[in-house]
Amino acid sequence: MGIAIVTGGSRGIGAAIARRLAQAGHDIVVNCASSIDKAEAVAAECRALGVRAAAMQWDVSDHAACEKALAEIKEKMGVPYILVNNAGITRDGLMVRMKEAQFDEVIRINLKGAFNMMQLTGAMMMRAKQGRIVNITSVSGLAGNAGQVNYCAAKAGMIGMTKTAAKELGARGITVNAVAPGWIDTEMTEKVPEDIREGAKKQIALGRFGKPEEIASAVAFLASDEATFITGQTLVVDGGLI
Ligand code: NDP
Repeated sequence: MGIAIVTGGSRGIGAAIARRLAQAGHDIVVNCASSIDKAEAVAAECRALGVRAAAMQWDVSDHAACEKALAEIKEKMGVPYILVNNAGITRDGLMVRMKEAQFDEVIRINLKGAFNMMQLTGAMMMRAKQGRIVNITSVSGLAGNAGQVNYCAAKAGMIGMTKTAAKELGARGITVNAVAPGWIDTEMTEKVPEDIREGAKKQIALGRFGKPEEIASAVAFLASDEATFITGQTLVVDGGLI
């Protein structure tokens, strides 16, 4: 068992991943951008499962902030064994109307944030000669989605980064994989208008949105000893959408 960092662990999918990895016996760092009270509540739930857990606020798109956070984690808890790049945002809009700032913000947080964390944590894992990285991408990055050119570019980019990092870190025994969720019930999808949500359900073979815990199970599998020879892969967990 080791230390697991879950970015964006204060709510939704990230919170479910933090709880699930704590259940598996890992110590947890619950990262968030601003909702530190929620992150602290998730950390408390993890501690109740018998592991060490800390809530920490930093912006994953800020390289220096990631460096500082990782130095603190190393000093107080140890070298991370698992990194889950889950932090993400949406700033939807049709491509021809999208503002430059909308595009840049999503790339900066969703794509560069994952790079920052993989680069810095990857270096620590390489020295330790062990580690598991799981990147939360999206079916949007595989199939495209009208209104999400920024998000789809970031999520497709994460898949390319996953494959590359798998090749660069494999020699040190580190696996790097991605999970691509379809529609999952969280605050992110609550914002989507009801007619679009209902239309989306008709496209899903299982006829419903997924639960955050259903993504957490896939992440826990990829981070477990059941998945020691799987690397560079993207596991789609979408109830049969694409
Ligand atoms: P939520 O909007 O519910 O939660 C987002 C999380 O990311 C929060 O913990 C938030 O922290 C954190 N976050 C946002 N920006 C930053 C930042 N700059 N630095 C650190 N943390 C940040 O999202 P979901 O749980 O729905 O989604 C989680 C991941 O899964 C995302 O990457 C998303 O793209 C992906 N995904 C979600 C799908 C869905 O249907 N919900 C489908 C496919 C993929 P805070 O609480 O402080 O704001």
